[in-house]
Amino acid sequence: MPDAYTNMPELPDLELDKRQVDAHAVGRTVRAVTVRDKRVLEQPASTLERGVKGRRFAHSERHGKNLFIHLDDGHALLMHFGMTGYLKFAKSDETLQKSEAVVFELDDDRRLSYCSRRMLGRIELVETVQDYLDAHRIGPDALSLDARGFRERLGQRGGLKAALMDQSKLAGLGNVYSDETLFQAGLHPRTPLNALKEDDFVRLFRCMREVLETAIEHEGKRPELPADWLTPHRHEDERCPRCGSPWSVAQVGGRTTFWCPKDQPER
Ligand SMILES: [Zn+2]
Repeated sequence: MPDAYTNMPELPDLELDKRQVDAHAVGRTVRAVTVRDKRVLEQPASTLERGVKGRRFAHSERHGKNLFIHLDDGHALLMHFGMTGYLKFAKSDETLQKSEAVVFELDDDRRLSYCSRRMLGRIELVETVQDYLDAHRIGPDALSLDARGFRERLGQRGGLKAALMDQSKLAGLGNVYSDETLFQAGLHPRTPLNALKEDDFVRLFRCMREVLETAIEHEGKRPELPADWLTPHRHEDERCPRCGSPWSVAQVGGRTTFWCPKDQPER
């Protein structure tokens, strides 16, 4: 059962994209916008082209798996990367690649491209970030929460992994880093939320932060994460690096889930 979604961008990947944008695009004025593939748009190409051309990229903001680039007129450019989307910076005269779906020519003879191979991402000019978050029912960013807020957002109903991945509860965790968080916390992905004790929530919260922050430090390179983590061994032929058990693999919350049957016993 191959997991085709293993590389789907999650919070740490978006944080790295944000840093790229801050380093290379913020402060620059957009000379031209070219939509090369309309399938990534949620609005007419002309809306995006007219709304961004001539504007300056003022600052950026990451919220969960969403990246917003604020324009100097108060609007914001939303980028969501779907399964295979990514950003690319290049010199203006470099040959365009097929995957460069929307191209922003900057005033320093470089370009920022929103790339998507399978056209499952999304790019959109939005009135305000809050409008977008409200319309799409996106909860607070996972790294913005404290332990109490984290517990409140998860709530009491349903299973643990499904709740961690539910972007309306907290935004940023996907399949890979929710599995990693549960592995670190020693909790089974199907644990009912109402079976968790106070210290479970505290441990889970601490593990989530540790996982996300460490992944950012490792620049999102999943095979290079610590060797005693699940993620670098996330393959059905591999075993738990802590106890040597073969992984349990099953669909949980609609996604292929890995856990250690010994370290994460069912409750
Ligand atoms: Zn184990």
